[in-house]
Amino acid sequence: MNIDSIKNGIVIDHIQAKRGMEIYEALNLKDLECSVAIITNAKSDKMGRKDIIKIDQAMEINMDMIGFIEPNATINIVKDNKLVDKYKVKLPEEIVNITKCQNPRCITSIEKDLNQIFTLADKENQVYRCKYCEMSLK
Ligand code: ZN
Repeated sequence: MNIDSIKNGIVIDHIQAKRGMEIYEALNLKDLECSVAIITNAKSDKMGRKDIIKIDQAMEINMDMIGFIEPNATINIVKDNKLVDKYKVKLPEEIVNITKCQNPRCITSIEKDLNQIFTLADKENQVYRCKYCEMSLK
């Protein structure tokens, strides 16, 4: 993969086509001062089309957030123009404060200070259930 345009930073690769913007927004990348590039519909042997995000700055990223949106994504860490680390994200077993329970009678809808916790109930179908009321997300 071409990492020429980045000196120190992060490349999020193998994002399903059209889903890059969702990750961009979920990670609040618009708030960064550095340059951020989203490449959409890049050709991929494995995926047909994919999205790629390049962040020109070393930063902590929320792996659970990326794994929840795109469990097939890979994270590439670039230092001094070299790829120094590469790993796959995975579907998190538990997500905290990444999304909200939609059940109006759920205790998290009433007690706003509670953490929004979901646990992975069905890995195959990526089903998460609210820890409090068991309502599923998808
Ligand atoms: Zn709930």
